[in-house]
Amino acid sequence: MSANAWLTKFSAVFNNDDRDSIEELFQIDGFWRDYLPFGGTLQTLEGRDKIGQFAKEAGLTTTIEKITFEGGASDSEGFFHFETSQGLGRGYVRISDGLCETLFTQLDNLKEKTTHPDGSLNPFVLIVGGGQGGLALGAQLADLGVNYLIVDKHPRVGDQWRSRYDSLVLHDPVWYDHLPFKPFPSDWPTFTPKDQMADWLESYAHDLNINIWTNSKLTSAKYIGSEGKWAVTIENDSKVVKLEPTHLIMALGLSGFPKIPTFKGKDIFKGPQHHSSAFKLQEEYSGLNVAIVGANNSANDIASDLVKIGARPTLIQRSTSLVVRQDDYCDKVLGPLYSADAVSRGITTDKADILQASVPLRLLEKKHKKIWDSIRQEQKSYYNNLANAGFALDFAEDGTGLGMKYRRTASGYYIDVGAAEMIMDGRISVKSGHSVSALSEDAIHLDDGSSINADMIVYATGYGDMTEWVAALIDQETAVKVGPCWGYGSATKGDPGPWIGELRNMWVKTEQENLWFTGGNLSQARYYSRLLALQLAKHFKTAPSIVN
Ligand SMILES: Cc1cc2nc3c(=O)[nH]c(=O)nc-3n(C[C@H](O)[C@H](O)[C@H](O)COP(=O)(O)OP(=O)(O)OC[C@H]3O[C@@H](n4cnc5c(N)ncnc54)[C@H](O)[C@@H]3O)c2cc1C
Repeated sequence: MSANAWLTKFSAVFNNDDRDSIEELFQIDGFWRDYLPFGGTLQTLEGRDKIGQFAKEAGLTTTIEKITFEGGASDSEGFFHFETSQGLGRGYVRISDGLCETLFTQLDNLKEKTTHPDGSLNPFVLIVGGGQGGLALGAQLADLGVNYLIVDKHPRVGDQWRSRYDSLVLHDPVWYDHLPFKPFPSDWPTFTPKDQMADWLESYAHDLNINIWTNSKLTSAKYIGSEGKWAVTIENDSKVVKLEPTHLIMALGLSGFPKIPTFKGKDIFKGPQHHSSAFKLQEEYSGLNVAIVGANNSANDIASDLVKIGARPTLIQRSTSLVVRQDDYCDKVLGPLYSADAVSRGITTDKADILQASVPLRLLEKKHKKIWDSIRQEQKSYYNNLANAGFALDFAEDGTGLGMKYRRTASGYYIDVGAAEMIMDGRISVKSGHSVSALSEDAIHLDDGSSINADMIVYATGYGDMTEWVAALIDQETAVKVGPCWGYGSATKGDPGPWIGELRNMWVKTEQENLWFTGGNLSQARYYSRLLALQLAKHFKTAPSIVN
């Protein structure tokens, strides 16, 4: 059966009162990933039983009004678009032996848009954080007619990127990084330097007329359950402003607070100690021995910067890391969907986003394992040279590579933009497989009894979980109730099972009523902002105070 014929049959069965046969349209281990139109959240149903159950429940409230396959009559897979009673959607389907292997359905728009009354001081949605996550969500809410306000503690939009170390250039190529409604111009560099990114965000906020208060720090938030509202306090320049939004969105980054180890002897060490988030390269560091605790992206970027000004960095690598040449990452991992070549094959960023989401995480793990096996094989001498220089490598504990590590813990990798060569030729030293046991006046001591002389220490030790923000801005009880963000239950280090199949707490309802999270890289800000905005718009339409 072709994909076209399958979709026709699927919608007929789905719209029938007796849905018992819908599961028979899927392979026994088939998948249905539904991003809102039928289940109202982001979820993946695995296997016939779960799909059948889901279809029965979804069918009580939703029917498919139209479904149109975009491919050829005999194609076995392709894009389609559809309408339900509430909205317009798109999807991607793969058929094999007449049965569905994967079905992906995504809500794109609501049939009825809402226009919000102007002049209300209290926004329906308050977004804390005006980085790319907050700005993209604001742009989407405006498009859906939802009343929102963004607050950011920095004086200027983009300051979060400006504050990062000088040499930072995006590791992802431009095709992966576009934001909604205002793509980068065609002559934009493939890899955006961080200050250019900052200025782009500032012009984005201006050009899209984003409703943002800068210099405005949210200092506390408390949920008033009886009223279904938040009571928040914002310090805005020298004023204190109280607001009562219905929904509160944490758009505060990829993670929580900088992790700074408390080593024995920390107070005795004579030189400067910086977390990577606060590190600024200075010419006076030339000639210094710098111990860098950590061996992932920030550690390697900072180490290569230090080499360039004549310092001698040593990476202290406690556990293994994934390293990939930037060309391999861009060509083999992102390139099939996000590249100039993909665009020339008709895969725009918009289509690429659907194709990417159409692969459930269970299958993505398998797909990525193959990609990373081939990268390892093809770059054998590169990896041997790194290992011979003492750098301990991994490709994720199950070999599934960087993309899965990113989804699980957002850490543990380096996209090589130059440091690997310096490690191989010894300009960056590596001490691997040992933890720091103590500091003394001018050295770091490791648990194998060895020591490394150091004039300065950089802690490239990463960040905590996003729920640290909840504890700090709301309270500990809510943080515990909500639980950690990221990870999908892969049962690997840092991402305990059971299997969930979608990212924890990200862009979906949480255990705390009316509290939501957004965050992550530019690609996630682009894609998931729409899905989160649609969920909020649904609440907006039904909010009594707005309707009346
Ligand atoms: C070294 C490094 C390299 C990276 N490289 C890439 C890359 O190549 N590609 C990529 O896509 N991503 C990259 N990222 C990851 C990611 O894009 C960023 O972390 C990104 O900034 C996340 O965007 P955001 O909008 O979610 O949060 P942020 O940009 O962190 O913005 C959060 C905002 O919240 C504000 N804020 C904090 N507390 C309050 C408060 N109480 N009240 C009001 N406002 C507050 C801050 O001022 C800030 O502006 C990198 C990150 C780092 C650290």
